[in-house]
Formats: sequence, structure tokens, C-alpha cells
Amino acid sequence: MSACTEEIAFAKTKETTRIAIIGAGVSGIAAATRLLEHGFKNITLFEAEDRIGGRINTIPFANNVIDLGAQWCHGEQGNVVFEKVKDLDVLDRSDEYGFHFVRSNKEVLSDDQTKAIKKFLQEYEITSDCEGSVGDDLSQRYWKEVDQQLVANDKTIAKEALDCMKKHLCSEEACDHLYELSPRNFSNFDATDGDQNLSWRQKGYWKFLSLLLNASEDHPGDQGILKGHVNLNKRIAEINWAGDGELTLRTWNGQIIAVDHVICTVSLGVLRAKYQKLFVPALPAAKVRSIEGLRLGTVNKFILEFEEQPMPEHMRSFACLWLEDDLKELRGSKYFWLEGIVGFHRVASQPLLMEGWIIGAHARYMETLREKKVLEGLQWFFRKFLTFSVPHPKHFLRTQWYSNPNFRGSYSFYPTYADELRTGRTDLGSPLMNVSGRPRIQFAGEATSPNHFATVHGATETGWREADRLNEFYKGRAEN
Ligand SMILES: Cc1cc2nc3c(=O)[nH]c(=O)nc-3n(C[C@H](O)[C@H](O)[C@H](O)COP(=O)(O)OP(=O)(O)OC[C@H]3O[C@@H](n4cnc5c(N)ncnc54)[C@H](O)[C@@H]3O)c2cc1C
Repeated sequence: MSACTEEIAFAKTKETTRIAIIGAGVSGIAAATRLLEHGFKNITLFEAEDRIGGRINTIPFANNVIDLGAQWCHGEQGNVVFEKVKDLDVLDRSDEYGFHFVRSNKEVLSDDQTKAIKKFLQEYEITSDCEGSVGDDLSQRYWKEVDQQLVANDKTIAKEALDCMKKHLCSEEACDHLYELSPRNFSNFDATDGDQNLSWRQKGYWKFLSLLLNASEDHPGDQGILKGHVNLNKRIAEINWAGDGELTLRTWNGQIIAVDHVICTVSLGVLRAKYQKLFVPALPAAKVRSIEGLRLGTVNKFILEFEEQPMPEHMRSFACLWLEDDLKELRGSKYFWLEGIVGFHRVASQPLLMEGWIIGAHARYMETLREKKVLEGLQWFFRKFLTFSVPHPKHFLRTQWYSNPNFRGSYSFYPTYADELRTGRTDLGSPLMNVSGRPRIQFAGEATSPNHFATVHGATETGWREADRLNEFYKGRAEN
């Protein structure tokens, strides 16, 4: 059969074609709701978890809600999340007051020292012609460009601050260390203008999902216009795309489902762990290279609720500097994993909370500990760094994004290994089509965004991109 007659034989229309979306995170939800808008009827989402939202997970906590995953809207102009809510008065601007560096001997850096360090970080911009890793570039430039008075007065503190800054950048980019981070992580990312840390006044990040879904904002999980299209607790174990006709999906419990198109939105971590078994026959080499080359890093949160806010009035957040001897001692102790902590801050709309962040291998180790042991470690950490006392919290939780097999990490970054393999997000996001250009397996999700990866707005755009791709293909087929 020629490509042309084959496509006539594929007598499907928007009304009849069967579309499976794997994953009901924000990219899957964006794809499904856009497909409904385009007039597609037979859309089914398969979600491994018992809830929709994926790495957006808003839960009730203390007097309001908290977000276990995505928390801030990063930027305004050109950010589809901001565009959707900008007239609704639901976002609060970020607050710059009250940031402090604290050392492991409880010393708090002076305002001048803090300003000098923050200035370097704010002005640090990596150029696209930079060779090597971000770690190389940042370290070299730090010693040349950071306020020389800071270095002259106290080289020890300048060194501790550099380590702390590296950790902070790792938490933003989700890498374990900056020596594995490619400059492309910055040169390919289009930062949207405006406030980079807008927080949700109420309802958390669920507010955005509720708007996409036209669902109740008070009930995280309400499937809105996708009601009847979502299958929860349905992990897809195999996508068989042999031949050129329909594809078959096998669920974890052996159910077989035939479809015409698949939009796969599982995280890069899930792809990396599962692609060899998930796709039958094997994926093309270019796709495998992108899955192997890119990375999903680990960033976790600690959330503590108190009877009263323990942080003093003047303090909104703090980052931690380890004295060399203290670090040496820590590394030999059972609390070694605390080295991965970046800092703590207050939480918008939740005056009784403290939230902390931990990154990389230490974050992954922390996930293996019982909650009680984690809290014990944190209390030791507070006693070590802070001049004020932090009581036993009323409630405590930590996230475990890496050990959850449906995520296997937090958000994606470009490692230098991807440069080595000459691969990237375009390869990851490109669809597998038949010879006449009919999409069979499409890929969406934050890691496939060429310019807004690692964010909710990027993930949303990729869902829309793949829904529009199918719409383009079906344009004009209604009459066939
Ligand atoms: C701690 C943390 C903080 C973050 N902070 C921010 C922030 O402040 N601002 C921001 O913009 N972004 C933030 N992000 C990133 C943002 O959450 C993600 O980029 C975005 O939510 C990813 O959406 P997605 O649809 O691509 O993937 P996901 O949300 O991972 O959706 C994929 C879905 O697929 C499901 N799945 C996996 N395997 C299978 C299978 N085999 N079968 C069926 N279903 C499967 C999963 O359960 C999941 O629901 C943060 C993420 C984390 C973890």
C-alpha cells in the first residue's frame, strides 16, 4: 500500500480516533483539555497515581494548603500560567526582605557581606560560548568578580559563601552539583520577564489546574471537564507500537487497550528507568540518546507547622554556611545528609510554617529515612545554626519525589553529558510518526520543552503543542 492509500485506509476522524494520554500531570491535562476544545471525543488519560496533577500536588495543611511540588509562578510576560490568572488577583508578589546567611557557629553575616554575595549571584550570567560546566565558570568568575573587600576581609567566609551559592543554584536547577550542569541549561532557557517567585495566595498551584479543568477550586482532584476521561491507578506497563496501524497499551494488571495515538507525558525519570520495557519495539536511537543524555534531578521539601512562628520578625529566610571543621565532623556522623540542606523560609499565606529545601544525593538518602529520624536530624541542624530555638513542630512532613516510581525525581536539567552526546530536548519531544506523517507516539511533559523546561508553564505548553499537532493532522479529515 502506498503512503497515500494507507492514509485513506486510516479512516479516522476527530470524532472516532482513539487518543491515549499517559499521565495526568499538568502536561497531560493541558493536552486533554485542548483536544476537547479542538473537537476530539475519544480521549482517555491513564494515570498511575490515585490522583491527578502529578508534580502539582496541593494538599490541606495547617490553616490553608501547601504545595508538595510546584509552588511558584516563575515570571509574567510570556508565562502561560500567569496569562491565565493575571486578572483574577490570586498571586502575591515575592518579598525580598529578611534574607540572612547563617554559619554553623551561629554567626549571622553582616548586611554588607550578605549584599556582596547576593549581588554576585544576581549579576551572574553565563555566556553561551562558555566551555565546560557551570561549576567551572561560576568558581572562576566568583574569585575574580565578587566584591574583593569580602575576600580580603575574610577569605574563609567568601569560600563558605561560594559553597552555599552553588547549593542554591543546584536547588533551582535540580542538579546534584554544578560540575554536571551544562551552560545550555541557562542559554536555552527563556526566563519570562517579571516577578520570578509569585506565590498563590490561596488554593495553591491547584488553582491553575482548576482553571484548565474548569473544576472546583476548593476540591483538589476535581476532574472538571475531564470527568469520564480519566483512569486513576492505571499504570501503563507497555506501549506496543509495532506495525503501522493501531497501538496497544498494556496496564500493570494486564488489561490491553487498542488506540490510534499515544501522548506520553511521564517524567524523564520514569522514561530513563523504564524505556527499555515500556516501548515495544525499541525506541529509535535518537530518542534513546536524549533519554540517556538528559537528567531529572532531586529537590525535596521539609514543611513544619508550629504553634507560633519560631523565626524572629526580621527574618524571612536563611541559607546555611558550613565552617570547614564543622563540615568535616558532620560528614563523619549519622547526620551527614544534612549537608544537602540549602536553607529555610517562611511560607506565603501560612504564617505558622517553616519550609526547607534539600538537594541531590543527600535528598535521595533523606527519602530512605523514617520521618521521625528526619525530624531528629533537622532539630540537630537548627540547634547548630540558629541563635533562637525551634520547638518540636505540631506537624511535619517531607517530600519523597525520587523514590516514588511514578516520578523518580523533581525536575529536569541539561547535564554536560547531554552536550557530549549532542542531544537535547528537541529529540526528546519529537513524535514518532509513520511514513506519511501520522503521529503515533507523541511526547510531552516539562523535559520536552525546548525553552521553559522544569516549570509548570513549560509543561503546559508541551501538552498544548502535542494537542495542536494532532489537530493539524486531522484538519480536513472530517469529510473523508
Ligand atoms: C519539589 C518541586 C518543586 C517545584 N517547583 C516548581 C515551581 O515552583 N514552579 C514551577 O513552575 N515548577 C515547579 N516544579 C516543576 C513542575 O512541578 C513540573 O515541571 C510540572 O508539574 C511537570 O508536569 P508534567 O505533566 O510534565 O509531569 P508530571 O507532573 O510528572 O506528570 C506525569 C504523570 O505521569 C504519571 N505516570 C508516570 N508513569 C506512568 C505510567 N507508566 N502510566 C501512567 N501514568 C504514569 C505520573 O504519576 C504523573 O502524574 C517543581 C517540581 C517539584 C517536584
